Amino acid sequence: MKIIVLKFGGTSVGTVDRIKNVANIITSYIKKKYRVIVVSSAMSGVTNDLIRKSEKISNDFDVQELDVLLSTGEQIACSLLAGRLRHLGYNSRSWLAWQIPIITSGDYNSSRIININKNKIHKYLKSNGIPIITGFQGINNKSRVTTLGRGGSDTSAIMVAKFFKANKCIIYTDVAGVMTTDPRVFNKAKKIKVISYEEMLEMSSLGSKVMQSSSVQEARLNRIDVDVKSSFQNKSGTLITKRRNIINNKIITGVSSTKNDAKITLIGVKDKPGIAASIFKPLSDNNINVDMVVQNISSNGKETDLTFTIKSGDVNKTRKLIKLNKKINFKIMKVDKDVSKVSIIGVGMITTPGVTYRMFQSLSEKKINIMVISTSEIKISVLISKKHLVKAVAALHKEFSLNK
Ligand code: ADP
Ligand code: ASP
Ligand code: MG
Repeated sequence: MKIIVLKFGGTSVGTVDRIKNVANIITSYIKKKYRVIVVSSAMSGVTNDLIRKSEKISNDFDVQELDVLLSTGEQIACSLLAGRLRHLGYNSRSWLAWQIPIITSGDYNSSRIININKNKIHKYLKSNGIPIITGFQGINNKSRVTTLGRGGSDTSAIMVAKFFKANKCIIYTDVAGVMTTDPRVFNKAKKIKVISYEEMLEMSSLGSKVMQSSSVQEARLNRIDVDVKSSFQNKSGTLITKRRNIINNKIITGVSSTKNDAKITLIGVKDKPGIAASIFKPLSDNNINVDMVVQNISSNGKETDLTFTIKSGDVNKTRKLIKLNKKINFKIMKVDKDVSKVSIIGVGMITTPGVTYRMFQSLSEKKINIMVISTSEIKISVLISKKHLVKAVAALHKEFSLNK
């Protein structure tokens, strides 16, 4: 069986007309003799709307009920899509995750798929059915509905491709493919024809939400080639694949950015061994992810300043945990939510000296102050003031010739 997995994102199924368009894309693959498994997100805006409703019900809405609530968006989109295919004369039905089942483990709101039972879907494919599977959701060993974190339908699609050994997985979205930077931030972004798993993983973890980062991780682990393309135009998109398959002469592949980081600075922290661990342990125990960190060298050997970044949604909880923490002493805590992290990503930087210098130089020419820096083998991130975000992305895009 030549199996292909097609995933449609929220905007692609955002209106009735768009659902009709998606049904036509699906049938074009049936005509090419593929067995098609479809994974769909909720219609755009629906998941956000459900979150808003839950927040109005309670400022501490139960996480298990939140997953039941959020998973409903996908059910709507899948039934509409299956209904359209049936209208066109095809054999199709919706499959909710628990009906398959798609088994998950881990926390509610951010579960991981650990198994997909193939029996029913296989049988259905053999009978020429087109299964329309709800993305983003699963069921755990307590028979409760779970969800996979925002953007989780990408991961559903990759996992379906893995378990059904699909020949191809195509992520249909609202942009032409993976672009050199978010086209909503900088409109001169260019489509990247091919990108390695490693670079895509960095880009998505650093803010390019075109693919959920855990989906890229799964694609990499399972060596699944992924196409990302637009559902609005029939043009080739971006191939995400092994580094070995890529000939690339660019030093930098993309520029990613975030708008939802916050910077916390503790001034006058008693400088003694283990102090950073005492600050960060309660945060990690409470699932707060600390990202960039700088500790200034203490000028008097007694006190130091410590700066770190977290997601802005975690600011209130972090503030509380630090105030309650008896193991640390500090003079002032400063919180700045008007920051953005801008990163350049590319395997080319491994073999090219001077990339860091060029990044810092081009930002300084635009008078953009760098607050915190962090690097890995294939990325350099800097924290800057949010008001300079577009200017910074444009400058880096130009500096590394991404417009070409
Ligand atoms: P879907 O609903 O199809 O899953 P998403 O909204 O999750 O779509 O992801 C697509 C969006 O990701 C685009 O509209 C774009 O604004 C954003 N994006 C951020 N960075 C990039 C990038 N480097 N390339 C393409 N899109 C990006
Ligand atoms: N509907 C979910 C979300 O908005 C999952 C997805 O779109 O991938 O996050
Ligand atoms: Mg998405």
